[in-house]
Amino acid sequence: MKLFYNENSGWIEVITGSMFSGKSEELIKRFRRLKYANRKIVIFKHSSDSRYDESKVASHSLNFIEAEAVSSIFEMEKLMKEKYSDVEVVGIDEVQFFGDEIVDFCERLADLGKRVIVAGLDQDFKGDPFKPMDKLLAKAEFVDKFNAICMVCGSPASRTQRLVDGEPAYSDDSIVKVGAAESYEARCRKCHVVRIRGEK
Ligand code: ZN
Repeated sequence: MKLFYNENSGWIEVITGSMFSGKSEELIKRFRRLKYANRKIVIFKHSSDSRYDESKVASHSLNFIEAEAVSSIFEMEKLMKEKYSDVEVVGIDEVQFFGDEIVDFCERLADLGKRVIVAGLDQDFKGDPFKPMDKLLAKAEFVDKFNAICMVCGSPASRTQRLVDGEPAYSDDSIVKVGAAESYEARCRKCHVVRIRGEK
């Protein structure tokens, strides 16, 4: 990969897959190697994603790397101007938290000659394409899609099962729900269940 490239040309790399597929680990791995090589880097994460630590990207295996917690693209843009204008590589973890405008943001950075590495979910809990990842997948130069292991049967798992109080969620349950005891599992196509209200 990337054996021949113009060093002034930027590009977008996408790391995607279901939950528990190792996306954040892969992001961390790429940035750790860049740090060894003394590249100028920054990683952004959404401030509502507060798994384990406020200012670090956390993977489930607890490999940490420093990250800027931001709540909007506007904030990222400001930091890029004021603090990180000279970075060569920009990372964004859990990119689905930032909404559709993140696509243009990534494109602008790549047009400026930066390497942009984003990680995030490609499907919502119903198995439908997750915005903005669907567009990023189309725009990216490089895409790596990872599978988890189905927590029911052990097959490769491309989907995220949403459970509300231990039962598969209904299709019309809102994507971000407050209050209910919800949890997530990696599941294969066969074991993934989306309940339709009114059907058994
Ligand atoms: Zn399965």
